[in-house]
Amino acid sequence: MPPCSLFVGTVFVCTSTQVNSSQPFVDQVVAQVLWFKLVRGVMGIRQRLSLDDRANQRKKASGGGTVLKNFFKKGKVSAFDVQKAAKTILDGGDQSADIASFSKASVNGKDNKHMSRDVIRKMLKSNTAPPLYTTYVTMWDSDRACKVEEKMHFQIPYEIIDYKVGSGPVDDWTSLPPDSPFRPLRAAFVEEHGLGVDPESVGVAGIWGDAACYHTRDSLFMLLVNMLSGSFRERFWCGVWSKRMTCQCGCYGRCTFDSMWRFVSWVSVAWASGGYPAFRDDGIAFLASTFPGDKIRATWASAKRKMKFRACFLQKRGDWSWFKQALAFCD
Ligand SMILES: [Zn+2]
Repeated sequence: MPPCSLFVGTVFVCTSTQVNSSQPFVDQVVAQVLWFKLVRGVMGIRQRLSLDDRANQRKKASGGGTVLKNFFKKGKVSAFDVQKAAKTILDGGDQSADIASFSKASVNGKDNKHMSRDVIRKMLKSNTAPPLYTTYVTMWDSDRACKVEEKMHFQIPYEIIDYKVGSGPVDDWTSLPPDSPFRPLRAAFVEEHGLGVDPESVGVAGIWGDAACYHTRDSLFMLLVNMLSGSFRERFWCGVWSKRMTCQCGCYGRCTFDSMWRFVSWVSVAWASGGYPAFRDDGIAFLASTFPGDKIRATWASAKRKMKFRACFLQKRGDWSWFKQALAFCD
């Protein structure tokens, strides 16, 4: 039997014996943590043998604490279960910092009133992702039947990608196959905008719009960004808003979508320039802004922080319904 088959078999056997629907839920979470550790063990072997570059890029996962966090973020376990599972794992001999921290949530589980708040605070302490970006977007107030400027949160694509690239090789995010249709488009973009850099160093991204139901009376519009170059092809949300809040002043939603495109346009210019901007999408300097997260952005701009790579948006993806709404196409 080849060594890989042996490892795969081992993982599956452990999973099927440890995770059993008749066990209490906390035991199942603990079993999942053990399973995760086994998988990481296999990944470690693959990395040592240089079999898996992708695994090399993502080796920073932190074991049991990561599994608990992911369960909690997806709503599969309550804050109480996180604390109880962490305590069980800690008693089992795992002394890692995040497990110890979760086990102490809300006075070691004795003060049930503040459990959720404590667990979320502990999660935020170890969060190293860039902060959300807040800006005003034109929305519709259905109670008062009028247009309003509302705060909306976005993930800035170049910040998220820089975070995901980490210390990994940039080529893994910018390379394109020799026959890729994006090659000539990327070269044309670099020339047209006078970037003066090797097109091979520029990443290619796409904007993906879609709608999804979440309620019997309402649904969501989603703006997503996906990487089209490199080997990771990450996709992540950029902005999400309710259809009911999309402007209804007679503009067929244009007021709201134009606010979104103002943000996307600002991101495009910044990402193509390769430097962290000093001004927000509304023209206010980060130094003068009081929105959450803008203080650190002002610091990045003052330090003339460079992005890991420049990128251009070369694809707009969506169904006909999205294009009609977002770009004001006719039937
Ligand atoms: Zn309008």
